[in-house]
This record gives sequence, C-alpha cells and structure tokens, in this order.
Amino acid sequence: MTIACLDLEGVLIPEIWINLAERTGIDSLRATTRDIPDYDELMQQRLRILEENHLGIADLQDVIASMQPLDGAKDFLDWLKSEFQVVILSDTFYEFAAPLMKQLDFPTLFCHQLEIDSASGKIVNYQLRQKDQKRQAVKAFHSLNFKTIAAGDSYNDTTMLSEAGAGILFCPPDNVIAEFPQFPVTKNYQEMKRAFQNAAAHL
Ligand SMILES: [Mg+2]
Repeated sequence: MTIACLDLEGVLIPEIWINLAERTGIDSLRATTRDIPDYDELMQQRLRILEENHLGIADLQDVIASMQPLDGAKDFLDWLKSEFQVVILSDTFYEFAAPLMKQLDFPTLFCHQLEIDSASGKIVNYQLRQKDQKRQAVKAFHSLNFKTIAAGDSYNDTTMLSEAGAGILFCPPDNVIAEFPQFPVTKNYQEMKRAFQNAAAHL
C-alpha cells in the first residue's frame, strides 16, 4: 500500500500569508522564509504585525474563508484518493487551513497549531508539531511498512521528497529545480497525475 504525501500551499491552495497580505493590505505580511530564513523570527514578526493591526484569529479566518483552492485542485485530489491513501503534510496551521479544507472535502491533514487566547481571539504563539515534521511523517509511514510518493512545490518540501520512495516537484521556483535535479518537475495537475502513476509503477 502506498501513501501519497502532498504539500498543501502552492500545490492545492494559494499561499495563505501572501493572500492575507493582499486581502488585508498589510504588505509586511508578505515576508516569507526567503526574506527571513529563521522561521521563528519570521513567525514572531508576523504575530507582532497582526497585533499591531488588531487582527485576531476570527478576522484572519474570515479572510481565508474567501479564498479558494487552486483551479483543478479538488478534481486532482479526488483522483489521487481513488489511487492512494492520501495524507497532506503542511507547515501551515490547523486554524488557518480549516476553511479551505472544507472546500476540499476534509482530507487528512498533518500540520502545526496556533496558540489562541480564547477571551480575546488573539494569536499569542504557535506550536510546531516537531522539527522537520514532513520528513518525520514519511519516515514514520515507512516504519509502518507503507510505501510513499511525495509531492511539493518548494524548499521546505525537499527533505520530505528525499525521504520518500519517490519525490515530485509541482510548479517549483527555478532555484529549487536547479538544486534538486533528481526530482521530476510537473507544471500542471495532468503532469503531476502522470508523475504519480509513473512513480507508482517503479516503486
Ligand atoms: Mg508549498
């Protein structure tokens, strides 16, 4: 039995922080790990910006609920579920992903959690499941005797792709293509579907 491990943002849904920046008009929320490589520093900055702008979890969930999965994502996911067990491995937070998961029929999602003050609705901190959780999840699936095929779009997926029985890149940036030539590059869902079929035939 094979588990398909899928990244979420950039593969099935748009980048959440970039959309939050666009839809709230707060440009400084656009920063990613490309701008601030230290993830904790980046997250603390994001939480500070949200507080300065008096944005709580309910405001952000309203914005996220107006977002939609990428065109064709739902059909692709439905196909993938018919062929494999599917687990989505993401570095987003359950509280952010929830409105979009509904639009994808609630697939299994392993991601991180926000710490929210229940009285004020303010996001006070965040909790990572564990360091390098995408790769650790693939390792755990192998220890349960599952085979794995993983697909993702960016740098934070590459340890998962390397750990998996087969790795696939979906619409990655040029620097990731250059640095990881061992992974096939797919540019649309049709190509990714073929890459999964091809990988499954050679596992
Ligand atoms: Mg991604």
